[in-house]
Amino acid sequence: MIDRKFLRSTTRRTSFLRAWIAAAALLSFGCGPLWAWGREGHRLTALVAENYLTAETQAAVKELLGKESMADVASWADEYRVDHPETGAWHFADTPSTADKYDRARDCPAAADPAAPWHDCVVDRIVYFESRLADKSLSHQQRAEALKYLIHFIGDVHQPFHLMGDDRGGNNIVVSFLGSPTCGSYKCNLHGVWDDAMIEHHGLSEKKYVAFLLADINEHDWEKLAGGTPVQWANVSHRYAVNALAPNGALLDSSYYATEIKVVDSQLSLGGLRLARVLNTLLSGQPVPPAAAAPAASSTGERVQPPAAKQ
Ligand SMILES: [Zn+2]
Repeated sequence: MIDRKFLRSTTRRTSFLRAWIAAAALLSFGCGPLWAWGREGHRLTALVAENYLTAETQAAVKELLGKESMADVASWADEYRVDHPETGAWHFADTPSTADKYDRARDCPAAADPAAPWHDCVVDRIVYFESRLADKSLSHQQRAEALKYLIHFIGDVHQPFHLMGDDRGGNNIVVSFLGSPTCGSYKCNLHGVWDDAMIEHHGLSEKKYVAFLLADINEHDWEKLAGGTPVQWANVSHRYAVNALAPNGALLDSSYYATEIKVVDSQLSLGGLRLARVLNTLLSGQPVPPAAAAPAASSTGERVQPPAAKQ
């Protein structure tokens, strides 16, 4: 999950990256504030997934990534797109808040190459890179790249505001969060609150956060929800974003946080479970966790709660 839509603001994105690189050089995780700017959500998704990989999948991942872990490469796609803006649109889909659900023709633009069967949005690109990872005729490097994209995009599709077309996914909606107009060293915006600020406000070390998510999965029996398709995942994310949409100048208070952090956490958990299931299916032929369905999002306009086991 969890990065901003910088296709149309590469300069700002570059400054974010520079800030992150500087922060990463100064901090080691667990003894300082959480790394921010979207990186942590992607790491958490990958770390959850690692707990559900079969031994065969673990070996295949290691063979493709070498010394790096899935968490290490989870934000590679965001770093890569700084110098490859043609990949920027792959990270999101612009479903308007007035729409009930994702529509490929409307929300997922055709690729620059009119002959390409794949469109340029996160939903299509997940399916595209699934096919690339499964294709043994491709080179090691091509399949490793496909794996890195899948790790990242299955995170992105679970960040609700990556499935929201309004105001650049909420990037243009200035807010205050828990009484502060600034999030880190930047003015808070709605997308960024979902990318980073709520995760950071949790206040957990990475290790404790992963343990918390794994306990949440067990408590709610969310392994049953590890299935579904990218379109289904996109529709649920979109519905969460519609429910959490706030106007420009909104004051996001503790009650907003208390409600929406549950969505953040369930989406991190489900992103991890679904990433694991996709990788297990492709790399070891075992669709585990053996999920049956994706959670349904409410279409009646009331606030959607994180999925419960009965769904
Ligand atoms: Zn991204």
